[in-house]
Amino acid sequence: MSNVPYSLAEDALGDANVEVIEVGTRDGLQIERTIVPTAEKITLINTMLASGLRSIEVTSFVSPKAVPQMADAEQVLAGIVRRPDTVLMALVPNMRAAERACTTPLDDGVLLCSASNTHNRKNLNRSIDETLAGLPSVAATLHAGGIGVRGAVATAFGCPFEGDIAIGDVVSIARAYAAAGAHGVTLSDTTGMATPLNIRSVVRAVRAALPAMELTLHLHNTRGIGLGNALAGLAEGIRRFDSSIGGLGGCPFAPGATGNICTEDLVYLLEECGYATGVDLERAIGVARKMESLLGRPLTGQVMRAGPRLRLHPADAVRAAQG
Ligand code: ZN
Repeated sequence: MSNVPYSLAEDALGDANVEVIEVGTRDGLQIERTIVPTAEKITLINTMLASGLRSIEVTSFVSPKAVPQMADAEQVLAGIVRRPDTVLMALVPNMRAAERACTTPLDDGVLLCSASNTHNRKNLNRSIDETLAGLPSVAATLHAGGIGVRGAVATAFGCPFEGDIAIGDVVSIARAYAAAGAHGVTLSDTTGMATPLNIRSVVRAVRAALPAMELTLHLHNTRGIGLGNALAGLAEGIRRFDSSIGGLGGCPFAPGATGNICTEDLVYLLEECGYATGVDLERAIGVARKMESLLGRPLTGQVMRAGPRLRLHPADAVRAAQG
């Protein structure tokens, strides 16, 4: 453990290592109409691993009818060339998903429950209580298959249907995950309603309830303050963030949802603040460019346009003002 050179409030003595979890091929591609061929997904993920990203949320074991883009979950997982520190994750929304996951080389299954009943019904077609009642058996199936369990709390910082969410509701879902044997909880800002202040209060409340739980922030840049929220999380000691290459992403069941915070932009911010991500920025930018060409449209990432901070341009290439 080394100290962070740029101190964020009480974070001065915190660990400088930050885990950037790539979710682009799941959270990003799930809403894309262009079906990316399985072989291209595998190449993308292998290139992500080569750029230094270690943890990848690869896919989702949803019904192929509901999300055709994720129909190749098993094939994609089978095609990935692992490195020693690779952690492959996927969304496991129900028992059928857990059974499918157990036939693959998955490391961690991510269970899902929204802190808003309305969003949970849209997303999973069940109430929160019904979802929580099903968690132990889904988790037990994953554990029996040698797969670790993480739990994601969607709309933890606000819901587009219900507005503000009671922090106690987020805490109870996190406790249900802990009771089911989850080793991590992801607090998800599904539609970009988090602010630095509610990041602080939700993180503090969950940590007070579950001090040993590994917490991850899943942030969207819907209102342009995604990286500001990441800084607020860092100041609270959070060292794990979901992000997507090029800023891909959204949620098909939430109006107005836009992309995740962008992996290259997050890596750039973290590294410039003195945190270590293990990610090679230029190579991550290369993956974002590849994703753009696969989808045939520009992505929202910004560092991929401007390049690293010290990418200099020949002065002769720019005309002087004519006074
Ligand atoms: Zn998301």
